[in-house]
Amino acid sequence: MSYERTELFIDGRWRAPSTAATSTVISPATGAAIGTIPQGGTSDVDAAVDAAGRALRSKEWGAISLEERVGLLSRLATELERTAATRAELTSVQNGMPITLSVGAEGAGPPALLRYYAAIAASVPVEERRPRLDGKGITVVRREPVGVVAAIVPWNYPQLLTMFKVAPALAAGCTVVLKPAPETTLDALELAAAAERAGLPPGVLNVVSGGADVGAHLVAHPGVHKVAFTGSTGAGRAIGEICGRLLRPATLELGGKSAAIVLDDADLTTITQGLASSSLLNNGQTCHLSTRILVPRQRADEVLGAVVAVAESLTIGDPLDPATELGPMVSERQRRRVEDYIELGRAGGVLATGGGRPDRDQGWFVEPTVFGGVRNDSRIAREEIFGPVLTVIGYDDLDEAVTIANDSEYGLGGTVWTADIDRGLEVARRVETGTIGINFYDPDLGAPFGGVKSSGLGRELGPEGFFAYQQLKSIYLPQSATPGDYPA
Ligand code: NAD
Repeated sequence: MSYERTELFIDGRWRAPSTAATSTVISPATGAAIGTIPQGGTSDVDAAVDAAGRALRSKEWGAISLEERVGLLSRLATELERTAATRAELTSVQNGMPITLSVGAEGAGPPALLRYYAAIAASVPVEERRPRLDGKGITVVRREPVGVVAAIVPWNYPQLLTMFKVAPALAAGCTVVLKPAPETTLDALELAAAAERAGLPPGVLNVVSGGADVGAHLVAHPGVHKVAFTGSTGAGRAIGEICGRLLRPATLELGGKSAAIVLDDADLTTITQGLASSSLLNNGQTCHLSTRILVPRQRADEVLGAVVAVAESLTIGDPLDPATELGPMVSERQRRRVEDYIELGRAGGVLATGGGRPDRDQGWFVEPTVFGGVRNDSRIAREEIFGPVLTVIGYDDLDEAVTIANDSEYGLGGTVWTADIDRGLEVARRVETGTIGINFYDPDLGAPFGGVKSSGLGRELGPEGFFAYQQLKSIYLPQSATPGDYPA
């Protein structure tokens, strides 16, 4: 199958980009060229931001009722539900995600988020009348859309992470300019097509493709009011610096190097059942994975054996095959990066399994790899690898385990493994992180998600993820006003 796209979606219309450049879509499973995508340029960003600014104030979007806005969001959700299977496949084709994961995360996740945020928008009053603290009248507290949102996303969960931003932004009445990752542009253009079919007014959702330069132009554009970014910590810092200078609100969801703390009472079967998903999901290309596995020294060999067994049990193969549990790295460059870390690991730890390429003659595959006896100060334990590489680190007592877990630049995910949930909760409370699971890890879309330290700023998901797209205005009414005079 070949995927040929030539146009961007700006101001409700499909149009050729300002640059003549295109880029080739490469299948990570085969290394073959499977399509072409257009490359946007800075003047396309300018046009998209202008369109989003006009839409914000338009009578078709800015002035419609909440009911009409909720209706448009549900129409978009219906379109995305109708195309869920093909959209899921599109992600797997582009980034190598096993199809069984794409079906839920990329196919079903985005419309579910749209419906969730439409319901939140419908339930949160736009205005609240509040008695003044000094007792001298009333203040109206209004929740207004923050404005034009620049949404910049990575390739690993492209559609889900896009909807982490687009769903609450649209529900709050904002407009969006989306810049997808170069590796996963096709699905963003599919979203634009769904928005067009759903009848979203022109300029409400715009898609401009391109690389970091296009993203940087968008971040700094004077017409943008908020930046919502998911990606690497390095890019997040660069974006944060620009937003700081411009005093522009930003949500930054960045990298991770989370810890799985295996307690001395942990059940090996529970670990074996949960670890593939909590530590190796999406071929190791997931930001919150527990890639540092902290084990009590007296059980080190036993737990290392279980981790190795999990890694060796995974079925490696074509991402579109439902039997596949581990697909390829997204690109040749990413595989090189992962293999460089494996080389570093060989020098510093004990290679317990993997380390090479599986026996396949094409595609960017890497064997699931486990290092035992790793020190937490080694580079493979400190830096985000973003591939199927796990480090097993021993500890003597619980305090040391928590200290090692927290001895990281990052704080995004994490897990605690124990037979005693109360004990797990106690440990979870002590870990410096934005999210953590006990005996499993699966983000709850209804609860805030995000990181501490170098893993980011702000939160997405949950009602908190909606409020991030609103700004507050207080209108002080004269003392003569009483609540009954100004009904909501
Ligand atoms: P990346 O930072 O290279 O790119 C992410 C996006 O930002 C892409 O669209 C890219 O074109 C754009 N970009 C890059 N530099 C930019 C700049 N200076 N200004 C504006 N835009 C810029 O990341 P990636 O390699 O695509 O994704 C992998 C990274 O994303 C990993 O570090 C991973 O941990 C992180 N991630 C974090 C989360 C989270 O929720 N915290 C989720 C998924 C991925």
